Amino acid sequence: MSTFRFRAIEKATSREVVKVEELGRKSLIFGDHVFNDKSMRQFLTPEAYQAVKNAQLGIKIDRKLAEYIALGMKEWALSKGVSHYTHWFQPLTGTTAEKHDAFFETQFDGDPVEKFNGSQLVQQEPDASSFPNGGIRNTFEARGYTAWDPTSPAFIFGTTLCIPTVFISYTGEALDNKTPLLKALNAIDAAATEVVKYFDKNVKKVTATLGWEQEYFLVDSALAASRPDILSTGRTLLGHTAAKGQQLDDHYFGSIPTRVLNYMRDLENHCILLGIPVKTRHNEVAPNQFELAPIFEETNLAVDHNSLLMDVMKKVAERHHFKVLFHEKPFKGVNGSGKHNNWSLATDTGVNLLSPSKTPKSNMQFLTFFINTIKAVHDNEELLRSSIASAGNEHRLGANEAPPAIISVFIGQQLTKVLEELKGVTDGKLSPEEKTDLKLNVVGKIPDVLLDNTDRNRTSPFAFTGNKWEFRAVGSTANCAGPMTVLNTIMAKQLRDFKNEVDELIEKKGMKKDEAIFNVLREYIKMTENILFEGDGYSKEWEMEAERRGLSNHKHTPDALKAKVSKKSMAIFEEMEVMNKIEMEARYEIELEEYVKRIQIEGRVLGDIAKNHVIPTAIRYQNLVIDNVKGLKEIFSDNEFEAVANEQLQIIKKISHHIANINMKVVEMTNERKAANLIEDVEMQAQAYCHKVKPYFDEIRYHSDKLEIIVDNELWTLTKYRELLFTN
Ligand code: ADP
Ligand code: MG
Repeated sequence: MSTFRFRAIEKATSREVVKVEELGRKSLIFGDHVFNDKSMRQFLTPEAYQAVKNAQLGIKIDRKLAEYIALGMKEWALSKGVSHYTHWFQPLTGTTAEKHDAFFETQFDGDPVEKFNGSQLVQQEPDASSFPNGGIRNTFEARGYTAWDPTSPAFIFGTTLCIPTVFISYTGEALDNKTPLLKALNAIDAAATEVVKYFDKNVKKVTATLGWEQEYFLVDSALAASRPDILSTGRTLLGHTAAKGQQLDDHYFGSIPTRVLNYMRDLENHCILLGIPVKTRHNEVAPNQFELAPIFEETNLAVDHNSLLMDVMKKVAERHHFKVLFHEKPFKGVNGSGKHNNWSLATDTGVNLLSPSKTPKSNMQFLTFFINTIKAVHDNEELLRSSIASAGNEHRLGANEAPPAIISVFIGQQLTKVLEELKGVTDGKLSPEEKTDLKLNVVGKIPDVLLDNTDRNRTSPFAFTGNKWEFRAVGSTANCAGPMTVLNTIMAKQLRDFKNEVDELIEKKGMKKDEAIFNVLREYIKMTENILFEGDGYSKEWEMEAERRGLSNHKHTPDALKAKVSKKSMAIFEEMEVMNKIEMEARYEIELEEYVKRIQIEGRVLGDIAKNHVIPTAIRYQNLVIDNVKGLKEIFSDNEFEAVANEQLQIIKKISHHIANINMKVVEMTNERKAANLIEDVEMQAQAYCHKVKPYFDEIRYHSDKLEIIVDNELWTLTKYRELLFTN
């Protein structure tokens, strides 16, 4: 009997629900662990407080004031029982990093004190030699530094004060996800503000907003621990699908199991204290799959909050004896996980630029931003695809799973009709009648609630959902900074071009502002028709149609990533001053390396469990059957034996067949891996891992999964899908 597996099941099924204390009304405790406006006013001098406010607008903090800010921050933290501080940052590994230092120090005379000064707040040098840097920084030198990002407030986690920082090399290149994001957000602010001024001169700032939706699986920690593949790769590499999966749709939006609900409540309490405005929780489509979504926020803060959330989710899960799986495809045969990125633009006057409204004037503003987004996506679909490419997401995009690898835009029936009408706008100057007609009957008629709300088409990777765009192809493990940097940069570039075109028509062709805008938008509508798609994104027909339209369809990560370093992408990033060539090339290299490493680890783990779990178990069972056959041979005559032992003989043969195949494929895979490891060029190495190594995974799995349904359940060592997915 496979004791480890059964002990794990026993443990998982006898868990008590962990008690969660309610902390009171959420509005009263929200942000209690954040050095927010309220605590800053309480703990900082007015000058220091003003310095932080100025810094949020990009004004440098002077040294002396930094001392006062540090002092106030330390006092606040100590008042909450904090002992350590850390610069908290998001290196290119995609996770978060921290190195804790105690406030505690001894003075020259040996007297103990709690200390934290301005330079410790503002800048720090972590020993960063082992963070990926794609050749930017000589790893032996380990010279990168972290610097405080005052636009994202410091927070307390456990007994540590965490200070959000950027991570930069001494030569000035960004080594993290945050730095380019902040630059992209500046770029979109500048470009969008200029365009908004056509409609409202009072706008001084435009903020990109992000509301992510985080999908995840929960597996009992004892069960997860019984699966080496889950522990090392975050997903199951083997496992026959359970008889009951998600066919009955009985999990989606169903009642949340108590143990899970308590986990969610505990998690939400932590989030609320940390100022993460969590709002929605529900079951997702697959068994044991769930989703959490917050109220949207300014993008930089939302990105930090998502990264922080993922950390918090893992930590809180420990208390509830769960393991959280963020992998895009932890289980074969049921839905994978994504992280929808809802994105919009908001003015400092409180207007959502992607929200249609009642007046023709503001709807023209809406259409301007709406159509420019379509144009930005149309012109940069490959770059957008590259921003969500990863080994994990490869299992969703292009692999018979939502959404497809083809980037297209869904806008719904009503807006399709509006664009159709705008396409017919006269070239050049408009007659007064046409202007009135446009204003009253086209622009003025967009209902402020779009009824055929696009939500019905869940197959689109980029959909307009009434008052925001929803980028659905982002993977559940992703740091939102990647796709958000790209989306905001291409939109900034697009808006800048738009402004130039409109101004030119006004200046050179003597057009009125509205005429010029209509003229430019009309051309955009004509140019971008290829990217619009309202049908079923999963269908074979769409794939063929997309090819005809010339849209890219990169199913494999190494191919998808290439757009990161295309001439066109580089030019945009440089023009918008988001990243330079070195930074882009470094990222490309790091992501290829990451891809290689992930597949390499999966290959190793798969080889291990196939040889150490599956084959020995199959042999053990085969021996039992052989004993049985031998016994039958003894007690039956030759004639009768044929009939009674036939099934068993077939089983013995089948087992041998699958074992032989697994053995052979594992050897072949290992050889391919060794060959790939010798390739020095990382692009070619990634291709080899993708096309030479990875295809073995499915083949090995096929034979192993067949054995799983032949071998006696009592002997099978790997916890099965039905146990992993239905125990909680
Ligand atoms: P679903 O996609 O699950 O049907 P909704 O469409 O209601 O859910 O909203 C999903 C997410 O969209 C929420 O996290 C919400 O914060 C976010 N969201 C709503 N408005 C905006 C906006 N203007 N900018 C960015 N995100 C937004
Ligand atoms: Mg959504």
